[in-house]
Amino acid sequence: MISPVESEKGKENKAELWQRAQEELRSRTGEQFYQMWLKPVRLKELRAGQAVLEVPNRFFREWIEDNHPGLLAEVLGRLSGNSLKVRYQVAETQAASERRAEQATESRRSRLASRGIYLNPKYTFQSFVVGPCNQFAHAAARAVAEAPGRSYNPLFIYGGAGLGKTHLISAIGNHVADRLRHFNLLYVTSEQFTNELVHAIRHQKTDELKAKYRSLDLLLLDDVQFIEGKGSTQEELFHTLNALYESQKQIVISSDRPPKEIGNLTERLRSRFSMGLIADIQPPELETKIAIIHKKAELERIQLPEDVVHFLAQGVRSNIRELEGCLIRLAAHSSLTGAPIDLPMARTVLRDIIGQADRPLTVEAILKAVAEHYGLRPQELKARRRTKEVALPRQLVMFLARELTQCSLSEIGRAVGGKDHATVIYACKQVQRRRQADEGFNRLVENLINRLRP
Ligand code: ADP
Ligand code: MG
Repeated sequence: MISPVESEKGKENKAELWQRAQEELRSRTGEQFYQMWLKPVRLKELRAGQAVLEVPNRFFREWIEDNHPGLLAEVLGRLSGNSLKVRYQVAETQAASERRAEQATESRRSRLASRGIYLNPKYTFQSFVVGPCNQFAHAAARAVAEAPGRSYNPLFIYGGAGLGKTHLISAIGNHVADRLRHFNLLYVTSEQFTNELVHAIRHQKTDELKAKYRSLDLLLLDDVQFIEGKGSTQEELFHTLNALYESQKQIVISSDRPPKEIGNLTERLRSRFSMGLIADIQPPELETKIAIIHKKAELERIQLPEDVVHFLAQGVRSNIRELEGCLIRLAAHSSLTGAPIDLPMARTVLRDIIGQADRPLTVEAILKAVAEHYGLRPQELKARRRTKEVALPRQLVMFLARELTQCSLSEIGRAVGGKDHATVIYACKQVQRRRQADEGFNRLVENLINRLRP
């Protein structure tokens, strides 16, 4: 392994060597030839015995070697103190690589369709940006994609809305579909599964349904939280998962919350969900958001100045889907008006989504962020319901409001639907206790604090 220090040094050496080579080439070939044919060349790689030169197109190679045969090999060889072979490589322009990516997506789309697999062909590992918030889930997903049925089974991925669950589990599907052409895989949401089951029961076709699911090599089950409280779906799902598990077929499940927080779930299904690996996706940090914006802008060919990138990354707190929405809106506005995207334009176009940064944090904003994370409406957290699903998020709102705002206990209580100040104190204690007992929850709280802190 080359240590990073050495490789940095290597880069420096290469750049320096290429500069000296260019000076010599300039004097040997003359200014005009140099400017036209040699200046655009890049030294891409320098290894023992070989130099790889990148040229804009094949004419460069022919023209250089026809007019000055062996000159580059000689100069580079002498300067590096090795005898060298020179290899030319035609630079791939960005347009060409984009075109190839598009073609790959298109051909994947039709391949998937011909196998009856409903996966978004764009949701791949290549287009997924990895950061501290999703590193663990990503590594687990990659492991499963490389060796389905042989690593973590089931793989259970959970995280808030718009944080990349569907993207990640689809990436497993696309990776497997690209490589294992005879693999029988299926992507389905738990809602679709429920509908299929209802339909099968009504038309007395449950045997067919069982046969279909049990013949799978890989089942990607998205948004499993929808089976909350649906007894017969849970029953059927349990048997399906068991059959797949026992024949070492891979199961991947996504949910907006961990198994222990899915209400109204039979215990045996909950424990089946928890038997493999549970991985969470947290809201993205600023750096990850910036990287995602760059990636999306590149994929969609949107020109974005850096200050707009930061404005978006700072302004959109968590949801990556919302981040994408902002980007598309800017691009649409720019192409309609013909004006390039800049900061004043971004502020105007996105003013209803991205507010003023210096506005003090309100309990409403906290409610919104927490509700969004749990896939609830803010209204649901204010209602008088006391079910398990809303109790914890509501306590979290109270805790965060106490940490991050100047509001009094009774103001906080009022904002979450008329609780008294003792309830707020109790809620804060509960959250603290839970943070100590549950590392995943603690990280969620820290993330929320970081994102919301004014
Ligand atoms: P979820 O299923 O968790 O609600 P999605 O997988 O639908 O979220 O993601 C929402 C959007 O954000 C998608 O367009 C997805 O491509 C994008 N996205 C989410 N996370 C990432 C990431 N880490 N890198 C690139 N794009 C991402
Ligand atoms: Mg999803």
